Amino acid sequence: MTQEKWGQLRQKLLKTVGQNNYSTWIEPLEFQELHDGVAVFTVPTNFMGNYVSQNFADLILYELNNSGESVQRIAFRVAANSPVRPVVPTTAATADKRPTERKQATQQTGTRSTDTRTSSSAFEPMDSLQAAPLDARFTFDSFVVGKPNELAHAAARRVSEGGPVTFNPLVLYGGVGLGKTHLMHAIAWELKSKRPDLNVLYLSAEQFMYRFVQALRERRMMDFKHLFRSVDVLMVDDVQFIAGKDSTQEEFFHTFNALVDQNKQIIISADRAPGEIKDLEDRVKSRLQCGLVVDLHPTDYELRLGILQNKVQQHQATYPDLKITDGVLEFLAHRISTNVRVLEGALTRLFAFASLVGREIDMDLTQDCLADVLRASERKITVEEIQRKVSDYYNIRLSDIIGPKRLRSYARPRQVAMYLCKQLTSRSLPEIGRRFGGRDHTTVMHGVKRIEELKLTDGQIAEDVEMLRRALEA
Ligand code: ADP
Ligand code: MG
Repeated sequence: MTQEKWGQLRQKLLKTVGQNNYSTWIEPLEFQELHDGVAVFTVPTNFMGNYVSQNFADLILYELNNSGESVQRIAFRVAANSPVRPVVPTTAATADKRPTERKQATQQTGTRSTDTRTSSSAFEPMDSLQAAPLDARFTFDSFVVGKPNELAHAAARRVSEGGPVTFNPLVLYGGVGLGKTHLMHAIAWELKSKRPDLNVLYLSAEQFMYRFVQALRERRMMDFKHLFRSVDVLMVDDVQFIAGKDSTQEEFFHTFNALVDQNKQIIISADRAPGEIKDLEDRVKSRLQCGLVVDLHPTDYELRLGILQNKVQQHQATYPDLKITDGVLEFLAHRISTNVRVLEGALTRLFAFASLVGREIDMDLTQDCLADVLRASERKITVEEIQRKVSDYYNIRLSDIIGPKRLRSYARPRQVAMYLCKQLTSRSLPEIGRRFGGRDHTTVMHGVKRIEELKLTDGQIAEDVEMLRRALEA
């Protein structure tokens, strides 16, 4: 592939990812070589390579192949002449500026022209102290709302209005790929347009730590404190990252308190409930729990189908000729029940593949193209696994779950286990009964019904079931 061709491809990428992402992540990539199906790019830093590879590699791969190159993989190499440390350097000049000036500085670096750039300065947009780049695709418009995420969505909407602070912090938590980052970016976009007067700072907990460590090393803690205390809305993504990192937690705690005292909105995300984050200091936990804590539940079939339909529209805007046979999306929504990222990746691959071979996306093509994804998602939860997890959870013996004892302290966990078997496996009621010591299917049905009722009236049971389901689906 020639440099010229990469130049043209970049223009296509610009259209897909938007100017902001493009300037920050795509433009700094320098094409090195294409060898044995591996396209190598140099990047200014490791961090950047990782980010691009996680977020844009699929897309780049797709465009490369779409343009007639045959590329299996993309690799990133850190440019020899750039600083290796994956730390976000801060410049004294920007740190001292007032918030509004800083915002302008970011905008300027964000839209800088290409030609004067060198690899090391390409990292600048991240350095300019303001928010980490927002993904242009992560807006409320593109967020599909369903039962599993409606509460989180409603809460996100509320804070995005930028009205008086009613709950602080807002904590969004849930498993990987369920839309936490998407919602946070959506809030940031919305606030930027509705309340341009507010200084909104979005960053990952990891970046928070980098900046903190950097400030320590450069003896610029005062700047650091000043910077973080001067924002109006602070958003920290993946806060579980700071667990076990004591001084970072401590600084986070102080930043947090200072902002709450000033009645500034804080929005946090985590991969689990604050109370369950290991090695997170109690005072930080309890601070987080003071606000509104909402979780994003694992997707259900309807939500997955909705997301797929939404994504198909987006893909079809770029590739209007591609057709999808009825039933393919339903099949995917049914079969890929892991996170949304996997679901999206599958669809991207389908479109890429279909446009390469110039075929309609039908079941055959889907099976061919996604064989590995489908195989990986085949992992089924077994009745035995459920029985084991449930007995562990309630601290009783496996034999008590399966055995004949009718004591409440065994019967209830047994019913929970039966309920989970019905929900999470494709076993029929008689089959489940058989595995619970040869019980009748009506006993199983009764157990399932009982738990369904209790889930509505007994918070403890509802929580138990939820925890177990999560553990089993993890
Ligand atoms: P998390 O931060 O929770 O790990 P992300 O927010 O990064 O997950 O979401 C993973 C991918 O799935 C993103 O591309 C995001 O746009 C997409 N996604 C997740 N939930 C939804 C949704 N409800 N509607 C549309 N896209 C979604
Ligand atoms: Mg995330």
